[in-house]
Amino acid sequence: MTITTPPRASSPSSGFGTRAVHAGSEHDPSTGAVIPAISLSTTFAQTAVGQPVGEYEYSRSSNPNRKNFEDMVAALENAKHALAFSSGSATTAVILQSLASGSHVISVSDVYGGTHRYFTQVAKAHGVKVTFTPEIEVDIREHITPATKLVWIETPSNPTLRLVDIRAVATAAHEHGIMVVVDNTFLSPYIQNPLDHGADIVVHSVTKYINGHSDVVMGVAAFNSEELFKRLSFLQNAIGAIPSAFDSWLAHRGAKTLHLRAREATTNATAVGHALEASPHVIAVNYPGLDSHPHRAIAKKQHRNGMGGGMLSFRIRGGHAAAERFCQLTRIFTLAESLGGVESLCEVPSSMTHAGIPKEQREAVGVFDDLVRLSCGVEDAEDLKNDVLQALERAVAETSNGNGTNGVNGH
Ligand SMILES: *Cc1c(COP(=O)(O)O)cnc(C)c1O
Repeated sequence: MTITTPPRASSPSSGFGTRAVHAGSEHDPSTGAVIPAISLSTTFAQTAVGQPVGEYEYSRSSNPNRKNFEDMVAALENAKHALAFSSGSATTAVILQSLASGSHVISVSDVYGGTHRYFTQVAKAHGVKVTFTPEIEVDIREHITPATKLVWIETPSNPTLRLVDIRAVATAAHEHGIMVVVDNTFLSPYIQNPLDHGADIVVHSVTKYINGHSDVVMGVAAFNSEELFKRLSFLQNAIGAIPSAFDSWLAHRGAKTLHLRAREATTNATAVGHALEASPHVIAVNYPGLDSHPHRAIAKKQHRNGMGGGMLSFRIRGGHAAAERFCQLTRIFTLAESLGGVESLCEVPSSMTHAGIPKEQREAVGVFDDLVRLSCGVEDAEDLKNDVLQALERAVAETSNGNGTNGVNGH
């Protein structure tokens, strides 16, 4: 028997896991290598002036490993195109720089801290103004002006895990020809595909779930429009904020297990969420996988099987002091910023990731001093649950003995 056709990689109709493993991962035609080599060459030979041997000329413009990674992300986000950048922040910056001077942007209030910093301190230097709203589905129409070109959504939000109905916002924005961007970092393409709900661009900090192993800083944007591809790939090359071949290769390897990791993280966060909800030491739990979540209906509509993802946050009794002690007393959860890796992390947003936001503004969106954020990794659910419970017991006991600086912060 002879095999006349090479093994097919994956097609758009393949399941998510099949696409994650095979999209952008063709076997090397010259050696048969199952895993593509890391292509470190910065330049590519040409047979005549302007006639490169293959499709590559210079690695800033395009590189085989970056292209493989971009093809895979496009397949996972149900997009025609994806473009990779040196970080999630560089991805945001390039999209904002694609807007003409004088443009207006509407953004949800509780965006990622770095996004907020760019919107408030960098965008205005090139003439782009940003309006923030805490209730975008309700009042988007009131904020639209003739200059509005873009709407920026993060769902779930960080660190309070509120959800935004992408379809509702996209419908209102599209009536005025306004483009909608969704930062999908917190859920990953396995749990949510914003383009399927009407978004025009989906962005990720690849640093988090897509790479998933806390060893690469990278970003990506995916979309369908040819015009966007022209504009954004021009800026990708012109600005040059591109990922290295090695990082592209690592992130591609990481993403091959995204579906397994995202499922396990959801199982773990669900177990931890239920345990927290049942604890007398907890004031409130924010997790979109729980029926108690105020936007549970959106999760059921927008997330794969209504999954909640691996991120959750909760308010501990005993104020800021208890929150800090909790993060020191966990044995499996590591006290650190970032999220989406195989290892579980915890942090106190009010003094870490969100310390730059004034207290009043922070508390208006639910980021109290006693809020703890957890990123559940892929360890065993039982171990994570027990870790959280023992840390809660000890943190609350210690801080209620008069060691704490704050009392119960019940507002
Ligand atoms: C981390 C993060 C970013 C920024 O990504 P970097 O890769 O750190 O530049 C943007 N959005 C969200 C939601 C993030 O968590």
